[in-house]
Amino acid sequence: MTLQEVYHGVLEAMKLPLQSVVDSNSRLHLLYLFSSLGLAYYVYRKSNEQGSFWSYVFRKDVWLSRSAFVDYSLIFLNSFFKVFLIGPYFVFGFYLSYKLEILLPEWFGYPSQGLSASATLVLYTIVLTVLSDFSTYVVHYVMHYVPFFWEFHKVHHSATTLNPVTQYRIHPVELIINNVKGILVLGLVTGVFRYWSAHPIEEITLIGANVLSFAFLFFGSNLRHSHIPLKYFNWLEYILISPFQHQIHHSDDERHFNRNLGSKLAIWDWMFGTLVRSESVSSVNFGIGKQEEKQYDSIWKNLLMPFANIWLRLKPAVARKVKTFL
Ligand SMILES: [Zn+2]
Ligand SMILES: [Zn+2]
Repeated sequence: MTLQEVYHGVLEAMKLPLQSVVDSNSRLHLLYLFSSLGLAYYVYRKSNEQGSFWSYVFRKDVWLSRSAFVDYSLIFLNSFFKVFLIGPYFVFGFYLSYKLEILLPEWFGYPSQGLSASATLVLYTIVLTVLSDFSTYVVHYVMHYVPFFWEFHKVHHSATTLNPVTQYRIHPVELIINNVKGILVLGLVTGVFRYWSAHPIEEITLIGANVLSFAFLFFGSNLRHSHIPLKYFNWLEYILISPFQHQIHHSDDERHFNRNLGSKLAIWDWMFGTLVRSESVSSVNFGIGKQEEKQYDSIWKNLLMPFANIWLRLKPAVARKVKTFL
């Protein structure tokens, strides 16, 4: 990598978080921020809040908390990992889909009837959305239940206040895992559809986003990481995760640990017994408990603590192994 490439990479990484307000695939796009504000107003009107709407939404103790500054720092730091470490591997998704397009006819022959253009668009969008969502659930499940991965995912849960940027408060190791998963699913699904359909694979787009993800982003995805408890109808919370259901996921109450692991769809939580609906919870405190939270109140602690904790877990086993060799 030349010095000039490094310079351009650094510039790109610095711009990335700021560009998200005009990137239609980002939750922080202005349109989604405004739609979330509209939904927040609905919650405010239904609540008995005394102060103004603006002081309700932009609470200083939320937006200017120590925890929030860790979120703001991590979104910038992670964009460096995205540009320098993950970006170059995005091409692997294209390679995978291209490889499948060649291999599938060898294995199964060509399909007797290819999909029509409209069926391709609709099916591709649905299959990609559902499979992406299910794989996100599985990865999130593993993050919570396997101690090694939990140490990294704990960074996201160590937030004691939630704001839309908290979505990006993840350890770089988790960022890499999520992106590898995303690249694999996109490559596999696209490859299968390129084989199955004679038509070009293009998602149904609305301002550049898939219609299903557009609906998800528009209807309050930014309130998931916030103090505004937007709940859906009881029946709907079996199908879609509401913002308050994700806030329950961030609860420091033991009864809510490892619950509501879904991203967009709640059906996976329903199927695998990890669902909690809003009606059974009145309010939540965010975080992992006072004692542990102190270990995650700066960006450096968030970056290093997972490695320190994993070492502490491994140390006795390593010591035993060393002893047997001596
Ligand atoms: Zn989690
Ligand atoms: Zn979260």
